[in-house]
Amino acid sequence: MATTQQVLQMMDRYSASNYLPLPVVIEKAEGVWVWDAAGRRYLDMLSAYSALNHGHRHPKIIQALKEQADKVTLTSRAFHSDALARFARRLAKFTGKGKILAMNTGAEAVETALKLARRWAYRVKGVQENRAEIIVCDGNFHGRTITVTSFSTEAAYKEDFGPFTPGFKSIPYGDLEALRAAITPDTAAFLVEPVQGEAGIIIPPERFLAEAHALCRRENVLFIADEIQTGFGRTGKTFACDWENVVPDVYVLGKALGGGVMPISAVAADENIMDVFEPGSHGSTFGGNPLACAVALAALDVLEEERLAERSEALGRLFMKKLTSIPHPDIVSVRGRGLLIGIQLSVPARPYCEALARIGVLCKETHETTIRLAPPLVITEEELDFALSRIGEVFANQ
Ligand code: PLP
Repeated sequence: MATTQQVLQMMDRYSASNYLPLPVVIEKAEGVWVWDAAGRRYLDMLSAYSALNHGHRHPKIIQALKEQADKVTLTSRAFHSDALARFARRLAKFTGKGKILAMNTGAEAVETALKLARRWAYRVKGVQENRAEIIVCDGNFHGRTITVTSFSTEAAYKEDFGPFTPGFKSIPYGDLEALRAAITPDTAAFLVEPVQGEAGIIIPPERFLAEAHALCRRENVLFIADEIQTGFGRTGKTFACDWENVVPDVYVLGKALGGGVMPISAVAADENIMDVFEPGSHGSTFGGNPLACAVALAALDVLEEERLAERSEALGRLFMKKLTSIPHPDIVSVRGRGLLIGIQLSVPARPYCEALARIGVLCKETHETTIRLAPPLVITEEELDFALSRIGEVFANQ
C-alpha cells in the first residue's frame, strides 16, 4: 500500500491536474466516515458533490451490486436486460414521468436533454431547422463537455476550449423578466438548476421556479430541471423543484441515483417528448447497464425506506440554525436548503477547508469564498454536532 506522500507524487507525475484535491488519501469508507492510509478518521461533509446521499457503501446497495455482479453486468443496448426494464419502470413511477433514458454521467444526461429539447422543438413545436434556442442561467453548472461548456458564464471553464456550440442564451439566475424577454418563437427549452450548486449554493428568489414554469407552459417552452446535484433528497424534498410544487417537463438526474456506487444518470420525460428519439438517434455503450440499474433500484428503495428527504429537511434546518450562530467576521452568510449548505465568507474558503481536514472534517470550497457543506443524508444529529464543533474550532482559531 502506498503512503500518502507516494500517492501525491504518483498523482503529480501521472495524472492530469484538472482538479485541486485536498491532500487526503481515502483508503476506506463506511456511512458518513472515511479513513486515510494512516488510519485517521474523517467525517465526510462533501458526499462526492452530493453523489453519496446514501452514505458510503450502504449495505443494501452493496448487496444489490454483488447480486447483480454474479448474474450479468453489461449487455450493451444491443440486447435487453431485466435490470434496465425494472429500473426504467421504477424511475418513471418515481418521477411521475412516462419514459426514462439511462446514461452514465451527469454531463451526458444534460447533453441528452439538450438533444431531446432540440428535436422536440423541430418535430413537435415546429421550429425551423437549426433555429432552436435554449435558455440557461448565468452562473450555471451543467457539466464539462464542449456543448455544456459553451453556455457556461465562467471564464475558467471556457478558456481555450472554443469554438463553442451555438444556440444558447443566458439570463441572470432568478430573473423572471429576463426569461420572459429572452423567449422567442424559436425557444425550445429553459434549462435551470433549482438551486445552483457549483455557483455557491444559490437559492432562487421565492416563486421564481413556479413562475418560470408557468411562463414556459404558456409559451410552449420545455422546462428542464437539472436535478443532478439537488435531486434525491439533497435539499430536503425528493426534488428541489418540489419546494415550489413544480413538476418540470424534463428531469435531468445523476449523482445520488447511483447510490454512491455506480455512475448512472437519466433523463425523465413524458412520451410526447421522449418519443422524438428513435433507434440510432442517441445512445451509450454503458448507458443503462444492468449493474448500474440494479444499484440504482436499491438506491431508490433506500431513499424511500430511510426517508432521506425528510431527514435532510429536518437536519438541514437544525444544522443551518446552529451554523448561523457561529460568530466570526469572515462569515458573510449561511444559506442552503436541506443538507445543501454554503457558508459564504469574505475571504478565501480554501484555508478553512484545509484546517477542517486537519481536524477530521472533509469539505470543499466552491467559487473561492464559499465553504460547501453537503454531508450524506444518513448522517445523525450527533455527527452533525461533531462537524459543528470542528467548524466552530476552526473559526475560533482563525
Ligand atoms: N449538473 C449539475 C447541476 C451538477 O452539479 C453536475 C456536477 O457537479 C453536473 C451537471 C455534471 O455531472 P457529472 O460530473 O456527473 O458529469
